[in-house]
Amino acid sequence: AKQAGKRRVGRISNPGSLAGFAREALLRRRLPRAFDDGALSLEYQPLQDVATGAVHGVEALLRWRDPELGQVPPAEFIPVAEHTGEILRIGAWVLEAACAQARSWSDAGSPLKVSVNVSPLQLVSGTLAGDVLGALGRHGIPAGLMEIEITEGAAILDLAGAAVQLRQLIDAGVGVALDDYGTAHSTIALLRALPLTTVKIAKSFIDDIDTDARAATIVHGLVKLLQAAGVKTTAEGVERTEQLAALQNMGCDTAQGYLISRPVAAVNVPAAARHGIDCTASLVEGLGKGP
Ligand code: C2E
Ligand code: MG
Ligand code: MG
Ligand code: MG
Repeated sequence: AKQAGKRRVGRISNPGSLAGFAREALLRRRLPRAFDDGALSLEYQPLQDVATGAVHGVEALLRWRDPELGQVPPAEFIPVAEHTGEILRIGAWVLEAACAQARSWSDAGSPLKVSVNVSPLQLVSGTLAGDVLGALGRHGIPAGLMEIEITEGAAILDLAGAAVQLRQLIDAGVGVALDDYGTAHSTIALLRALPLTTVKIAKSFIDDIDTDARAATIVHGLVKLLQAAGVKTTAEGVERTEQLAALQNMGCDTAQGYLISRPVAAVNVPAAARHGIDCTASLVEGLGKGP
């Protein structure tokens, strides 16, 4: 527990320093107020189908705009919210807000699947499956329009318990993605033990697939392995057309990154989703593979 605490504090700038602890204390004080004052919001980042260029889904990403501190990045405040337990309240709100948004895109005639990040505490609580299915029911959203993203740390805390919750969600039709695969232990055992529909390959693995043959071979192998196991793959942090072209050749299912779109406010999602299609059209032309 001491180790985990250290790692979380370390995500604050100036880790371990007085400034770092002071910053954490400040965030810890302001976060409950931010939540009550409605200073938290969601942005959405499009997920592009690599083969067709179509955008069928988005990832919901928390934003905190504090009147005094300005924009506080989630990498800084999520660990604080996990320390204080506030993440349970915030996580429940994220689920509601994402469902309400999914409903409104559906009602407008362009349904999008929404991926929601789930904290280890939510997964370990033992009520995640019920919470997610309850939110879907309240908003009248088909399970196929919802995906949750978990991290491997969450699964490792209680593998058997996590597997039960995830199986229940998958059986109901909800997608389950393993986020940031490649950043921690990334064991094959985990891929075997966890019920999953998708693995998101971490940006650090995707960064040099267009410049480093060895990096490309590893990602290609991972995509093939998961494909054979019936698990879809998403590449995170795609920033260059050359990376997208490499992912096309590898048969990777989905791409996410600044190349396709940055995270945007909900109102801008339809426009950002159309941009995704243009992106692949020009990529294919650029490679001379027409049409
Ligand atoms: P994540 O779930 O892996 O989300 C992807 C992060 O990568 C986002 O950072 C996104 O803005 C960023 N990103 C996407 N494409 C690119 C790219 O091409 N280049 C670069 N450099 N970055 C890219 P963000 O929004 O700052 O979120 C950071 C992390 O905070 C998330 O990582 C997730 O772990 C956590 N988080 C965000 N929202 C929530 C939430 O609602 N609940 C929980 N529990 N965690 C959240
Ligand atoms: Mg995520
Ligand atoms: Mg990720
Ligand atoms: Mg992450």
